[in-house]
Amino acid sequence: MAKASIYLTCKKCGEEFWHGKKCYNSSDARNYEDWAKENVDTCPKCWKADQDVKKLAEREKQSAENEKSATECPWTLPKLEGSEKQIKWANDIRNNLIAQMISSKAKFDALEAVTKGDIPEGMSEVTAQAIKEFYSDVHNKSSKWWIDNRGKCFFGETFEIGRGMR
Ligand SMILES: [Zn+2]
Repeated sequence: MAKASIYLTCKKCGEEFWHGKKCYNSSDARNYEDWAKENVDTCPKCWKADQDVKKLAEREKQSAENEKSATECPWTLPKLEGSEKQIKWANDIRNNLIAQMISSKAKFDALEAVTKGDIPEGMSEVTAQAIKEFYSDVHNKSSKWWIDNRGKCFFGETFEIGRGMR
């Protein structure tokens, strides 16, 4: 075993940084150092900052897409309540759920039927009840509630309950 070890200059912040890698032997290590001189041009700090910017952009793109899909939802959902920051976050969570919900037309149709009191054939009582609860959850206007429940994939689960829709 040998170790490539080299100091490089970051093209972003201009600072010198250390770069190392374990290699099989010293000639490998030297080859790697030559390669790194040409190819590793960003320090770990700037690299991480780049990744964060990319992730944020990705999240914002996703939010915008969800928001667009959510406008296709025929329901009038209440205005969310909470602090500005909470509302923004909760709205994003809700849009994501709505986007999921309307992307499956069969499920959405069944959901609408149940909420109008028309339980599709073969659907269990338990599933119908879960769907009713889901419908009322979606109309929850507390941002805090949305944020607290963000980990639940409750749209999918609703339909799994009682295996009514499988
Ligand atoms: Zn840097």
